[in-house]
Amino acid sequence: MSDKTIFEMIIDREIPADIVYEDDICICFHDIAPQAPTHLLVVPKKRIVRIADASIEDQATLGHLLLTAQKVAQQEGISESGFRTVINNGKDGGEAVPHLHLHILAGRQMLWPPG
Ligand code: IMP
Repeated sequence: MSDKTIFEMIIDREIPADIVYEDDICICFHDIAPQAPTHLLVVPKKRIVRIADASIEDQATLGHLLLTAQKVAQQEGISESGFRTVINNGKDGGEAVPHLHLHILAGRQMLWPPG
């Protein structure tokens, strides 16, 4: 039985996704249950389980995720109006998929504090 996460299956093209960007380090695709008009996930190809498990060797990858969010926001036309990035970590953080991912949410006014 495969212990791959759903995101590794997307990376390996075993299940479909609406991919908007990909490079050697990460992939970005539309969230299947969007919480905003635009809801994208930036996922490292290396399986870092969550931000709490990242190590110093992951430093460049972590920076790359943020710069990819910047690039994708420009590509998708949400950079100027604004967007929110979110990383959920662990149970209280609302993490559901144990493979690090950066949410990009846009297209509506975000609220603070978040739920
Ligand atoms: P988390 O709660 O931060 O772990 O976010 C997991 C996200 O993955 C949720 O927003 C889900 O809607 C999303 N998701 C789960 N399965 C899929 C899928 O197969 N394709 C795209 N997004 C998914």
